[in-house]
Amino acid sequence: MKNIIFVAPPAAGKGTCSEKLTEKFNYKHISTGDLLREAKNKGDELGRKIEELMNSGALVSDEIVLTLLNNELKKMDKNQAFILDGFPRNVLQANALEDIFKDLQISDYVVIYLEIDFEKALNRTLGRLLCPNCKRGYNKDSALLKPKKDGICDDCGSALITRSDDTKETFEVRFNNYMNETNPVLKYYQDKNKLCRVSADNNIDEIMQQIERVI
Ligand code: AMP
Repeated sequence: MKNIIFVAPPAAGKGTCSEKLTEKFNYKHISTGDLLREAKNKGDELGRKIEELMNSGALVSDEIVLTLLNNELKKMDKNQAFILDGFPRNVLQANALEDIFKDLQISDYVVIYLEIDFEKALNRTLGRLLCPNCKRGYNKDSALLKPKKDGICDDCGSALITRSDDTKETFEVRFNNYMNETNPVLKYYQDKNKLCRVSADNNIDEIMQQIERVI
């Protein structure tokens, strides 16, 4: 099983695909957004700084994200296949990841670009729900992704919440950041022959079929 790096605009489905792949193929799911949300919830000075940046839609500094990611990768069993969800988000992070992969002797990976347009991604953002306890994601506007009982997590029964950065205003900032900072990462991986495009403009089952063909 190849390691996977997801590169995509906000709400393209990185988190949902990662959850499904983890369930089916036993990947380790590493989401830098989740790592940052955990750090934010500690409520210390670093947490408050992260919260301010995330709520504005801006990227958190490369240094903070790299420290969290490095700690997570070091903890992992060498043979464990993993998914990187939300990293790299700029070319500097992509270069740093190359160095980490060299150190850990990782070369077997594919970069999956989930393609989606602005309007569709915005609609998905506004329908998103998250379980604050087990972190499972839902979408109230998708027949395949809505919870069985309104507002309640199917897995653990907790009340679902909306992410504080899933507003229209913050989405616009995040999408623009994606276009300016993250889009160049696609060319970086295309030049390395690592890039694979998957249309995220389908339902989750069709997206998963496309992904399973490339891993
Ligand atoms: P996500 O859960 O991937 O949508 O990320 C939520 C937010 O966390 C982003 O809008 C950024 O503020 C921050 N974030 C996540 N990953 C990164 C990263 N690799 N670099 C910088 N900021 C990040």
